[in-house]
Amino acid sequence: MSALTERLLELLYPSRCVFCRNLMPPGVLCCEHCRRTLPYALPAAQNRQLPHIESCVSALRYEGAVRDSLLRYKFDSATSYAKIYGEILAKCIDENGISCDSITWIPLSRRRKWLRGYDQAKLIAEETSLRLGVPCVRLLDKIRNNPAQSSRGGPAARRANVADVYRCAAPDLTAGKRILLIDDIVTTGATLSAAASVLRKAGATAVVAATVARAGD
Ligand SMILES: [Zn+2]
Repeated sequence: MSALTERLLELLYPSRCVFCRNLMPPGVLCCEHCRRTLPYALPAAQNRQLPHIESCVSALRYEGAVRDSLLRYKFDSATSYAKIYGEILAKCIDENGISCDSITWIPLSRRRKWLRGYDQAKLIAEETSLRLGVPCVRLLDKIRNNPAQSSRGGPAARRANVADVYRCAAPDLTAGKRILLIDDIVTTGATLSAAASVLRKAGATAVVAATVARAGD
């Protein structure tokens, strides 16, 4: 891209804070005010117990500007947001002392990825991987197109909705490994648990999980 094209793009699509949407200098994705005042998840809310998962940490609470930002990221093609989410998530993983051999993510089905054009959790996992210096590898495939979890009711309905949805895509890269599983949001944890169970059956020694935001409490 030429310098002129870059300058024109900046004028047409100025940088805005991914949370409050205030104008930012080129390349800056989050304002200082938001960095200080975001609804960070409290340490007491970490290390939540979910089946098949050693511990699950989340960086932020899913509310207000965080919720609006993640909705733009998912449904409005705001893919550049993955950079700041990855930065915030890597810091949270580091602060919680979580270690792993490799990083993977909760994949979209091929159809949904095709419709959306990108796999939102994959982009966050890649950004987190760059910051933690741990390889990011595709270990899961989504083999059944279940209705979106957000349209389901209680915990039992959510668990049933994600049963047999994932398959291990690379058993040789899974066996004997301690794996960090990444998603954008955790609500009941049914999706993370179902995916972690697949990785454990394929021989992963442990699965830890991390999400950008946590809903429901
Ligand atoms: Zn801001």
